[in-house]
Amino acid sequence: MSFVNELKNACPNDFLSKKEDLFVYAYDTTKNPDKINLPLAVVHPRNAFEVSEAVKVCQKYNVAIVPRAKGTNHCGATRIGEKSIVVHFSKMDKIISIDKENLIAIVEPNVVIGDLNKELDKYNLFFPPDPSNLSVSTIGGAIALCSGGPRTFKYGNTKDYVINLEVVLADGTIIETSKNIAKNVTGYNITSLFTGSEGTLGLITKATLRLIPKPQSRLLTLAYFNTLEDAAKCTNNIINQGFIPSTIDLVDKITLQTIEKYNPCGLLDSYEAALLIELDGFFDCVLIENEILKKILVNSNAKNIVQAKNDEENENIWRARRSAFSALGQLKPNVVTEDIVVKRSDIIKCIKKIAELADKYSIITAIMGHIGDGNIHPNFALDLEDKIQKENFEKLKDELFHFAISIGGTLSAEHGIGNEKKKYLEDALDRGAHQMMKKIKNLLDENSIFNPDKSI
Ligand SMILES: Cc1cc2nc3c(=O)[nH]c(=O)nc-3n(C[C@H](O)[C@H](O)[C@H](O)COP(=O)(O)OP(=O)(O)OC[C@H]3O[C@@H](n4cnc5c(N)ncnc54)[C@H](O)[C@@H]3O)c2cc1C
Repeated sequence: MSFVNELKNACPNDFLSKKEDLFVYAYDTTKNPDKINLPLAVVHPRNAFEVSEAVKVCQKYNVAIVPRAKGTNHCGATRIGEKSIVVHFSKMDKIISIDKENLIAIVEPNVVIGDLNKELDKYNLFFPPDPSNLSVSTIGGAIALCSGGPRTFKYGNTKDYVINLEVVLADGTIIETSKNIAKNVTGYNITSLFTGSEGTLGLITKATLRLIPKPQSRLLTLAYFNTLEDAAKCTNNIINQGFIPSTIDLVDKITLQTIEKYNPCGLLDSYEAALLIELDGFFDCVLIENEILKKILVNSNAKNIVQAKNDEENENIWRARRSAFSALGQLKPNVVTEDIVVKRSDIIKCIKKIAELADKYSIITAIMGHIGDGNIHPNFALDLEDKIQKENFEKLKDELFHFAISIGGTLSAEHGIGNEKKKYLEDALDRGAHQMMKKIKNLLDENSIFNPDKSI
């Protein structure tokens, strides 16, 4: 039997191998390299057993596997290399159980994070990680990338909510990394090893997630500033007052203006910067914190303060923020979101460097970021088909990443490394740690069939 026939036997559901069906899988959110590869086939497994059978066939024929959820990653993490298939998890999208008493949910990998939270609403429960595109991105993708988002500042990122994983290993063995209990230090913490491994160590077929009670109330404030520096200083002033908002996000003037141009929603786009600050918790606590917050904002040079009056207004502001990437995409044929992180105390230095590089290489640059975490997302709008712009952009990234590393920051806080940033890893990681990561990869995936050329 041929490879394709054996694979089809292993995973018969919606099997794709016709050229016209494969094209779509050659793309993800990231701009493709000059030459694209088509996968040899795409499988849609329905359970861990089918995943395991597909892995065994690929192992036998030495064919690589690119695990794929919705392809919304920003780092070329689902890019197709030579001689690869795609394992598309779209048919494994069920919420298996929600256990209110133990604050646990068990889900299949392709459950969309926004859908999970809608279901959890019925139980007054909450899954905090929010990779900003929560109406699309999935639990499996978020676990594989250890995604973060605006709420990381208060609640942590995906790894803080993963209790146990069912994983298919490179020889087809199906393992559970832990147990479905909240606390467990029995053995090594291999749950965390797979979380953030970018599909390079194993395929996640089920996840047990930690939940928290849903905060009783939320209050979103937009504070506008005349300078980015004032906005950054204000962030520190808020934190120094000893309370932790669920979100402190920064958007600059270009972002405000672009959102208003393409998706008008009443943002005040004449200011240089705005902070989105969300408080959540018990109703009375939020009210008390809000009084303190307003005083800090006024004392920190906020020139205009707009507060959502109800959930609908809250959602409108969030919708505006979430639309930034697509709005910026209207400026030029390509928009590339970068993801660097520095100490919060270095934010201003970093923003100045980004502006300097944008100027030097003449690339439109809009700055957003989860500033509470020191995580900055410069968005670059450009035409990557233009040879000069493309070369300039490579130089810009080179300088930017090395700058972040030189001041004690690093390459990615939440979007991952994928194919895009792999070449910078040597400069960003401790040498011994990098070697150790390579040994782990070699141990778990000797023939490198899981997402090769990515991550480490
Ligand atoms: C507009 C926009 C805004 C965003 N904002 C944020 C943000 O604020 N914070 C943030 O962290 N991210 C953000 N992202 C990035 C993105 O949403 C995340 O990458 C997302 O969590 C994962 O996306 P996905 O489900 O589409 O997975 P994919 O992109 O399909 O896959 C992501 C990775 O997971 C692997 N993978 C997928 N499923 C499995 C599985 N079952 N087993 C093993 N490996 C698997 C893939 O191989 C790949 O390496 C944003 C993206 C967009 C488009």
